Amino acid sequence: MDSCIFCKIVRGEIPSEKVYEDSRVYAFHDIHPAAPVHFMLIPKLHINSLADVEDAHSALLGEMMVLVPRLAREQGCTDGFRTIINTGRVGGQEVHHLHMHIIGGMERLPGMIARGK
Ligand code: 5GP
Ligand code: ZN
Repeated sequence: MDSCIFCKIVRGEIPSEKVYEDSRVYAFHDIHPAAPVHFMLIPKLHINSLADVEDAHSALLGEMMVLVPRLAREQGCTDGFRTIINTGRVGGQEVHHLHMHIIGGMERLPGMIARGK
């Protein structure tokens, strides 16, 4: 995708602080971190969102899930972390290239979204 900012990051056209890279995935620090540790893991393949994954992506998604705890530990999250995948309009997704946020590095993250009454 020519205009996608995360595709541009993968291609090195936009600079990023790399956390990890292999032939299929790329991880980099979020430009506006929400916590001391906040990086994103993305597939190099452009997939719009989690709502757009197909059976053919199973191995890729599996690789990402297996990588997460290793990368989180390497970034200092030795006692837990949170993963978030914002999806579509309702999920508040701003960048339309599938990405997983990995967040941690503080004593305790704030709670999840507030429960309605
Ligand atoms: P979303 O809301 O789509 O789940 O999250 C997009 C994330 O991408 C945001 O946390 C935002 O800070 C991050 N982001 C947007 N543009 C860039 C960029 O050019 N470089 C980096 N490193 N992060 C970005
Ligand atoms: Zn993309």
